[in-house]
Amino acid sequence: MSHAHCPDCHGLLQAEDKTFHCANCQQDFSQRINCDVCGEEVETLKACGAVDYFCNHCQSLKSKSKVVRSYHKLSQ
Ligand SMILES: [Zn+2]
Ligand SMILES: [Zn+2]
Repeated sequence: MSHAHCPDCHGLLQAEDKTFHCANCQQDFSQRINCDVCGEEVETLKACGAVDYFCNHCQSLKSKSKVVRSYHKLSQ
Protein backbone atom coordinates (compact mmCIF):
# COMPACT_ATOMS: atom_id res chain seq x y z
CA MET A 1 0.00 0.00 0.00
CA SER A 2 1.56 3.27 -1.08
CA HIS A 3 1.21 6.43 0.95
CA ALA A 4 -0.33 9.57 -0.41
CA HIS A 5 1.80 12.65 -0.68
CA CYS A 6 0.83 16.29 -0.55
CA PRO A 7 0.90 17.84 -4.05
CA ASP A 8 2.15 21.11 -2.55
CA CYS A 9 4.95 20.12 -0.17
CA HIS A 10 5.22 16.35 -0.68
CA GLY A 11 4.55 15.76 2.99
CA LEU A 12 2.71 12.61 3.96
CA LEU A 13 -1.07 12.88 3.76
CA GLN A 14 -3.10 11.43 6.61
CA ALA A 15 -6.46 9.93 5.74
CA GLU A 16 -9.28 11.46 7.73
CA ASP A 17 -13.00 10.80 7.38
CA LYS A 18 -13.48 11.83 3.77
CA THR A 19 -10.50 14.08 3.34
CA PHE A 20 -6.73 13.93 3.56
CA HIS A 21 -4.72 16.20 5.80
CA CYS A 22 -1.15 17.32 5.38
CA ALA A 23 0.42 17.87 8.78
CA ASN A 24 3.36 19.56 7.13
CA CYS A 25 1.57 22.49 5.45
CA GLN A 26 -1.73 22.18 7.37
CA GLN A 27 -3.93 21.88 4.31
CA ASP A 28 -6.80 19.54 3.55
CA PHE A 29 -7.23 17.67 0.30
CA SER A 30 -9.90 15.61 -1.37
CA GLN A 31 -8.99 12.46 -3.22
CA ARG A 32 -10.05 11.88 -6.78
CA ILE A 33 -9.83 8.45 -8.35
CA ASN A 34 -9.70 8.20 -12.11
CA CYS A 35 -9.59 5.46 -14.70
CA ASP A 36 -6.08 4.63 -15.93
CA VAL A 37 -7.39 4.19 -19.48
CA CYS A 38 -9.87 6.99 -20.20
CA GLY A 39 -9.24 9.34 -17.28
CA GLU A 40 -12.89 9.49 -16.19
CA GLU A 41 -13.70 9.45 -12.50
CA VAL A 42 -14.50 5.91 -11.36
CA GLU A 43 -17.17 4.62 -9.00
CA THR A 44 -16.00 3.09 -5.74
CA LEU A 45 -17.45 -0.34 -4.95
CA LYS A 46 -17.01 -1.67 -1.46
CA ALA A 47 -17.69 -5.29 -0.69
CA CYS A 48 -16.57 -7.47 2.21
CA GLY A 49 -13.79 -5.10 3.20
CA ALA A 50 -12.30 -5.07 -0.29
CA VAL A 51 -12.49 -2.05 -2.52
CA ASP A 52 -12.85 -2.18 -6.28
CA TYR A 53 -13.51 0.54 -8.79
CA PHE A 54 -15.80 0.61 -11.78
CA CYS A 55 -15.38 2.84 -14.80
CA ASN A 56 -18.75 3.66 -16.35
CA HIS A 57 -17.04 4.90 -19.47
CA CYS A 58 -14.98 1.74 -20.14
CA GLN A 59 -17.63 -0.49 -18.56
CA SER A 60 -14.95 -2.37 -16.71
CA LEU A 61 -13.94 -3.20 -13.18
CA LYS A 62 -10.65 -1.77 -11.96
CA SER A 63 -8.46 -3.02 -9.16
CA LYS A 64 -6.97 -0.47 -6.81
CA SER A 65 -3.56 -0.87 -8.38
CA LYS A 66 -4.94 0.19 -11.77
CA VAL A 67 -6.66 3.43 -10.89
CA VAL A 68 -4.99 6.83 -10.76
CA ARG A 69 -5.30 8.86 -7.56
CA SER A 70 -4.84 12.57 -7.30
CA TYR A 71 -5.28 15.06 -4.49
CA HIS A 72 -6.96 18.41 -4.72
CA LYS A 73 -6.90 21.24 -2.25
CA LEU A 74 -10.21 21.83 -0.50
CA SER A 75 -11.42 25.38 -0.74
CA GLN A 76 -12.25 26.84 2.64
ZN1 LIG B 1 1.61 19.76 2.40
ZN1 LIG C 1 -12.31 4.24 -18.20
